[in-house]
Amino acid sequence: MNIEKLVRNNILNLKPYTSARQSHTDGILLDANENSFGTVAEDLNDLDFNRYPDPYQKLLRKKTGDYLGIPGTNLFFGVGSDEVIDLLIRIFCEPGKDNVIVCEPTYGMYKVACDINNVEVINAPLNEKYDLDYDAIHSGVNENTKILFLCSPNNPTSNLLDKNIIRKLTAELNLIVVIDEAYIDFSGDEGFAKEALHTPNLVVTRTFSKAWGMAGLRCGYCIAQEEIIGLLFKVKMPYNINKLTSMTVAKAVDNAGVKDEYVKEIIEQREFLFDELKNNKKIINVLPSDANFISFKVENPHEVYNYLEKNGIIIRDRSGQFNFQGYLRVTVGTPEENKLFLKKLNEIL
Ligand SMILES: *Cc1c(COP(=O)(O)O)cnc(C)c1O
Repeated sequence: MNIEKLVRNNILNLKPYTSARQSHTDGILLDANENSFGTVAEDLNDLDFNRYPDPYQKLLRKKTGDYLGIPGTNLFFGVGSDEVIDLLIRIFCEPGKDNVIVCEPTYGMYKVACDINNVEVINAPLNEKYDLDYDAIHSGVNENTKILFLCSPNNPTSNLLDKNIIRKLTAELNLIVVIDEAYIDFSGDEGFAKEALHTPNLVVTRTFSKAWGMAGLRCGYCIAQEEIIGLLFKVKMPYNINKLTSMTVAKAVDNAGVKDEYVKEIIEQREFLFDELKNNKKIINVLPSDANFISFKVENPHEVYNYLEKNGIIIRDRSGQFNFQGYLRVTVGTPEENKLFLKKLNEIL
């Protein structure tokens, strides 16, 4: 696998910006036009807000790497995993020429990020079980296909994808395979993090937004071999991860036990919600979930959505997505939230 051959020429030839804090973080710092006098902001943790953050993301790479049992050199952090998705498209896909494969119904950001970058999206739909269609993916690929985006557990279908098909595709196809594991903590599966370390064209993205409960901090990352990590560092904005986010996330990683507790409670509530929805005769189908949400099919999705909204309960209407007619998606909430949701749902059904 020659990764260089998949990279856009302008990225290969790019002379990256060299930022001041790359070379020096100590001394009399008169190199970055910062305010040497101090900061107007309240700096409760003495983070020196007047100085730019660490462009190498050393703290987060070390902490998260230790937590995962993966070298920090195989990690790259973005402003949410959404930033990582965008950067991968910009590294590998020549606008107006190259294309990307997605398997719908799936997470909408892959297509949005491609549209923004003027990169064509080819849909190789999931099969009737909402799992990968090996043949559809193979026939979707052409000589300009650079990335295959997979989401496992998949949003909005909530299932883990077949790992052996993923392995087979990754070995056979001359392209980058991105596995979006935003919901992996809820699945009981270890995912592909370790496999990414010895698979040159595999990138696993993860996020602190879901199980870790830090969506407001905007922090996601990917795991890949150093060649791809190097490309991401080459193209990212020099100071993409700010000091508050970095410190807060690093401290949270020390408290992973709290995340595990949340995951346990969310899974308990997921099973409760699933059973309740399953027992409702008015609901046409409920998809089993490896994630922290449940998608269910009703006759009149818009009516149900609107009634819940009117009652202050906001879910997601996914009925317009490809091959997902009639489906609504509800996030697993607290016991009180879930009971109220079920009560109002029963009223409208
Ligand atoms: C929520 C979600 C993300 C979001 O990631 P951020 O780290 O918050 O940008 C990524 N992928 C999928 C499939 C998601 O559902």
